[in-house]
Amino acid sequence: MNNTRILKVELGARSYPIRIGRSIAGLDTAFPESAGRSLRVVTDSNVEPLYLEALLGALSLTRDQVYVVPAGEASKTWDSAGKVLDWLLESRLSRDGCLIALGGGVIGDLTGFVASIYQRGIDFIQIPTTLLAQVDSSVGGKTGVNHARGKNLIGAFHQPISVVADTDTLATLPKRELLAGLAEVIKYGMLADGLLFEWLESNLDRILSLNPNSLAEIIERCCAIKARIVGLDERETGSGPRALLNLGHTFGHAIETYTGYTEWLHGEAVATGLVLAADLSARHGWITEAVAARCTALIARAGLPVAPPKGMTAEHFRDLMGLDKKVKAGKLRLILLRGLGDAVLSSDFEQDLLDETLAAACR
Ligand code: NAD
Ligand code: MG
Repeated sequence: MNNTRILKVELGARSYPIRIGRSIAGLDTAFPESAGRSLRVVTDSNVEPLYLEALLGALSLTRDQVYVVPAGEASKTWDSAGKVLDWLLESRLSRDGCLIALGGGVIGDLTGFVASIYQRGIDFIQIPTTLLAQVDSSVGGKTGVNHARGKNLIGAFHQPISVVADTDTLATLPKRELLAGLAEVIKYGMLADGLLFEWLESNLDRILSLNPNSLAEIIERCCAIKARIVGLDERETGSGPRALLNLGHTFGHAIETYTGYTEWLHGEAVATGLVLAADLSARHGWITEAVAARCTALIARAGLPVAPPKGMTAEHFRDLMGLDKKVKAGKLRLILLRGLGDAVLSSDFEQDLLDETLAAACR
């Protein structure tokens, strides 16, 4: 395994490695944890024709050890989980078996959730194939499915036993999906690592042209940040550090709700949310206007939206943000910046300044 970077998520008995490299999902050496175990693979209909064969070859698996769900968020349901569970029981996977999630965040969340409840919980391995999954959803142990009443309302914390991030898979990812993942990368820089942010400013073009070293670099740095924060706050206790990973997300959720979760990708909504969070932080004097402008400029250069959708007003934001789960005891709490790479969860912000931020953004 040449040039594979290995990072460890430190969670005591639930610690696990993240391996990052090129074409590693096709190498049996990338999967020491699964050696000698009975395996089942879950993937989606887009990823199957692209990357399944190499994985089956590497692990000497056959097609009857694979379950394919239709690609897309619509597969992240209780119903799909039930179908995968039925299949696992029919195929008689025993408790010491191990699932492999090959795909984006939808497959990771669904497979991880199934692994968390199949025979009271079995091991699983993540092979994330989207940038979002490689820097975010495959690490940290949040698994689950959506409900008609909302996203991710049913789920479990269940850590994988390893994560294998293959940067070569990003070559086939639609550009828009890549950029949506990049929004979360920029988020990590803004919330926890000013040097990563600067590195992104200098290396954005290399990332956009899918330079393998640059991709591995951002995946490693983002996973290191997420691993550290998850290590401090595995189960996201209300005001613990894990909440900081939601920088830009309160504004972003308002945009996603306004647009009915169809027009904007999550990462696109987060990108605009990051711009608003930086703007509000600057209006408080917590960061300089120059820093806020750098955030907006990087997000714009990445080809991500920096303003809310047409027709969305400050009033829409206020209504939709009132429903956000970050509201505690009647007071809205937002994640804001005290510096580049230094986020805080705060209810200590001026409503007037929030109104100014929204008024300026919704022109
Ligand atoms: P996704 O899994 O739907 O993948 C996006 C699209 O890309 C899909 O059409 C998929 O089939 C396709 N695809 C995947 N890999 C590909 C590849 N290499 N080449 C070509 N096409 C490919 O979505 P996503 O953006 O990866 O993940 C979003 C999901 O992740 C949401 O359900 C979200 O709730 C969840 N999420 C979970 C966490 C967590 O901590 N568990 C964190 C963030 C997001
Ligand atoms: Mg997100």
